[in-house]
Order: sequence, then structure tokens, then C-alpha cells
Amino acid sequence: MDEADVRQRARAFVARVDVSNIREDLSPYVTAANAKVKKDELGEGESGYTITKPNGKHIIIVNSLETEERQRFTVCHEIAHIALGLESSHEEVPSWSYAKRHPNEIACDMFAAELLMPYQQWLSVVPKEEPSLKLMQHMADLFGTSFPAAASRFASLSDMPCAFVTMERGAVRYAARSTALRQAGAWISPRSIIPLGSVAHRIRSSGKSATERGEVSQDVWFDNWKKGLDLWELSRHYLRTDTTISLLWFDSDDLPEVEVNRFGARIEDAGGLTELTGELPWPGRSRRR
Ligand SMILES: [Zn+2]
Repeated sequence: MDEADVRQRARAFVARVDVSNIREDLSPYVTAANAKVKKDELGEGESGYTITKPNGKHIIIVNSLETEERQRFTVCHEIAHIALGLESSHEEVPSWSYAKRHPNEIACDMFAAELLMPYQQWLSVVPKEEPSLKLMQHMADLFGTSFPAAASRFASLSDMPCAFVTMERGAVRYAARSTALRQAGAWISPRSIIPLGSVAHRIRSSGKSATERGEVSQDVWFDNWKKGLDLWELSRHYLRTDTTISLLWFDSDDLPEVEVNRFGARIEDAGGLTELTGELPWPGRSRRR
């Protein structure tokens, strides 16, 4: 199951449910998954799990000690396990981490993001303005999600050249790109170190949690990129987890002209999901034959 499959299945799941009040109440999803939610005080770092009864009914247990937004994410993540029929492997690494996470867990996180921020609803309410801290926080609050989840969604669904990069312990883990950037062949290598000259590098080097915005050269971030054009970078560093996130964007006028990558175009056609191909390929896809 690749990323396009997961997103397609998530959207099919969302399409069967009345999502008009989903930002307040997730119970239509819970019902659609033949599940019930039970809150319990779980150990630190344990967000939740699912028990399936002999009659096929699922009980989703969520950690009531975690934040409301975190609990909402957990409920949707557990629904993903049920809907996709994927086993849990929660013990390995904390859920905020993309590093070494089991592919099932990454798939369930993507499914959860589709449920929490249904794309049609997102596109109908997202203000048509430049990204800012205020805008990202507004969207996170509106959909009851974390700031990184909202920023990632913004990049994926934006019609401007835009990317959202997740970094851990100084290395790039994941990058979501808008369709415009993907079609332009903009590439950020996973597992590369945070580039020198980026805002992310500067604030992480300062050794404290901080949020900053600045203008940097596009070729600081994108591999084999034309020099001389700038982009905006909004970056936030979380000292406790040594996690850094950056939202990158620029005017369409500042997009260098390049040939569309045929490989990328083929993936798009096969998935039949042109409106949602804003992400990098599934981790490890490049190694597939
Ligand atoms: Zn899981």
C-alpha cells in the first residue's frame, strides 16, 4: 500500500460520513469504523490502542492525560488501523517521530490527517493569504490539530509553490510539497542534514525553542536548483524533542522553468488523485523495482 492508496482509501472513508460537524465531534467516524471510544489514564508516551471484541466491535482506548488535539489525532489514527486492517507497532518510537517508524504507523498517520482535515472542507475555509504563524495556528485551532499537522496540510493542498519540511536531530525526515513544486521537480533529499543558510539551521543552532521567518535562497533548500531566486521560510524549533519544522513558499513568478518530471507525472496518473499529490514519494519507494 503506497501513499496514494492510503490517501484514496482515507478519502473514500470520509466520503461515506457526514463531516459537517467533524471539527467538533469525531463520532461519525467512530461509528463508521464500528468502534467506541473509551478514555483512560495511560502511561506517559502511550497515546492509545484498540481492542477488537469477538463480535467485531472495536474499542479505541485513548490516553485522557494527553491534550485534546492529541486525543483527536489518536482516535483517527486508531480508526486508520481498523479501516486499513494494519497491525499496530506502537512500542518502537514515539509517535511524533518519523524516524524509523514502521510503515504501517506512517500510513495510519496520513489516514488520520485526511480524517482530521477533510480536504474539501479545508479548501473551502483556508484563507487565500500568505502563510504566517497566525494563519497556521488559526487552521490548527479550526481543525483541532497540531501546528505541524496544519502546516503540512497547508503545503500539500496549497496552489502556490510551497513545501513543509520535518527535521529531527538535525536531519531532514520528511518533506510535503505542493503540486506546483512537485511539478517543477523541486526535491529535498530525505536524510540530508539541515542546510546551512536556512532559517531552520539558524534557530536550531541557537539552542532554544523558537519560531522565526526569513528570506533564503531557493537553492539552499532544493537540490540542483537554479541560483538567484529567493523563498520565504517560516521555521519553528522544539528543543525538547530536537524537532524542527519549516514551511517554505514563494510566488509562482519566482518558480524557475523546468521540464516536468515524467516519472512524477506517471505516478500522478496511476494514482488518479491529481489534487493530492503534494507529498514526496513514500519512504523507500525509490528502492522499489
Ligand atoms: Zn498505530
